[in-house]
Amino acid sequence: TAANFGLGTWPARRARISPQAVALVEGDRSRTYAVLADRTARLAGHLAAQGVRHGDRVAYLGVNAASTFETFFAAWLLGAIAVPLNFRLSGPEIRYMLADSGSSVLVHSPDADALLAAAEPLPETVRVRIPAGPAFEAAVADSAPPERVPGVAMEDPAVLLYTSGTTGRPKAAVLSHGNLTWNTVNQLAHIDIRPDERALCISPLFHATGLGQITLPTFLKGGSVEPVAKFDVGEILRRIGEARITSFSAVPTMLQMMCEHPYWPAADLSSLVTVVYGGSPVQERVARAWLDRGVRLQQGYGMTEASPGVYMAPPEGATEHPVSVGVPHFFTDVAMLRDGSVVAPAGEPGPAEQAGAPGPAAPGELLVRGPHVFQGYWDRPGVSDEAFVDGWFRTGDLLAVGADGWATVTDRVKDMIISGGENVYPAEVEAVLLQLDEIANAGVVGVADARWGEVGAAYLQVREGADIDEAAVRTHLEANLARYKIPKYLVFVTELPANATGKIRRVELRARAAGLAAPEGNL
Ligand code: ATP
Ligand code: MG
Repeated sequence: TAANFGLGTWPARRARISPQAVALVEGDRSRTYAVLADRTARLAGHLAAQGVRHGDRVAYLGVNAASTFETFFAAWLLGAIAVPLNFRLSGPEIRYMLADSGSSVLVHSPDADALLAAAEPLPETVRVRIPAGPAFEAAVADSAPPERVPGVAMEDPAVLLYTSGTTGRPKAAVLSHGNLTWNTVNQLAHIDIRPDERALCISPLFHATGLGQITLPTFLKGGSVEPVAKFDVGEILRRIGEARITSFSAVPTMLQMMCEHPYWPAADLSSLVTVVYGGSPVQERVARAWLDRGVRLQQGYGMTEASPGVYMAPPEGATEHPVSVGVPHFFTDVAMLRDGSVVAPAGEPGPAEQAGAPGPAAPGELLVRGPHVFQGYWDRPGVSDEAFVDGWFRTGDLLAVGADGWATVTDRVKDMIISGGENVYPAEVEAVLLQLDEIANAGVVGVADARWGEVGAAYLQVREGADIDEAAVRTHLEANLARYKIPKYLVFVTELPANATGKIRRVELRARAAGLAAPEGNL
């Protein structure tokens, strides 16, 4: 047989070490590694019988479930490519992703029925549909493992993962077996995941964080993973205590909702050791609320294209630097792009240091290189080429790296506002706005301005039942920010455009803001 060290072999490899250890928990049922290996091999047999071959795409649409993992492992065993789809999208968006990926199989959970109906007609490439539930179970029970598994190379694609679409139309990053394996090694070097881990899989599995941050590392170590279908805050807080959960990964919005929930003070978090989070900026008070509960809180910074980890805070530093993303991962190189040249990031003299001021060097666009960084986007050769400079992936993010190598995320390059020649980072202004208890959410974008080139426009969502006026917001801004950073326009809205993980879609806000500056307003 040809060599196959791909992700699809993990259940069987783990079953050699700890066959009776629990791999998956769902409701009151659990599956050992021996059972997981057997079931995924049978499902692979079923897929092979349906004509699935090496390189074919197998899509999954549905909430996090045991069947999600079983579908992925089965596809991977055959060298097929898993395509996790975001169930929060609309019908036409799902149709676009099925067509874009050229998926031939679609496994879907029952809750996806309405969404699939809205996605009709499905692209012709979709030949096989397997609804999770009885049909999925029959496919497992009635099939035998494939007679022959093909060789799978570490460079072979394992998943097509669509980016969040924060800056435009989602594109599928092609992540190989090697990319995800190296990311797993990187996570394990930073996070203490053990064979008795009981991880709650809250982050959706159609994002790289859901798959890469805790889940795959836990499978490698032989711990158990409990997929969570729905983000019900009270229920999750209760479940952590009941199931003696030891770790989970989340986005900041989730951490905030949890620590603001009425059940939070009474929740039993005594089993919880590690909470890893990332994906968007966190408010310091949210980080503090979790640190105060005695958990190891580790912020990660990464992106779909990096499988996803690039930086992660070691637990020791979190109390001192609660909003830092820490240091680069073990097998990760970072650099910065300054005036078109690739330069080393840490310790370089930036304007702030030249002026003798303390704090991190001036932010620059972060470049990343490593065995976990993808090769390119699916079917977008031009976009893929632009994504790299001298072999480094351009993250599009501005990071400030201190002399000790610890970094903070400043903002995205494209979101930076240049007002009267000064750089204004929307994320910084938003963080100041969010210090006000009355403000539930804030989004700041640039608008063209005759006098300053660009000025800021802040969209503010007031907390339910709270009351605040423009004058009070301005007083707070003036007390905490340089004048040139203060948005010219303050707009109160009932809701901000955000994507599934709570990231503000500034593209949409920019389109709205373009209408704010009436010519006569620009004096
Ligand atoms: P798209 O690429 O489609 O526009 P996206 O970049 O939001 O969407 P993801 O790959 O899910 O898609 O997110 C990665 C991005 O999230 C990073 O490039 C960065 O801008 C942001 N990000 C990740 N981690 C953090 C963090 N800890 N703090 C602040 N921002 C973060
Ligand atoms: Mg991106």
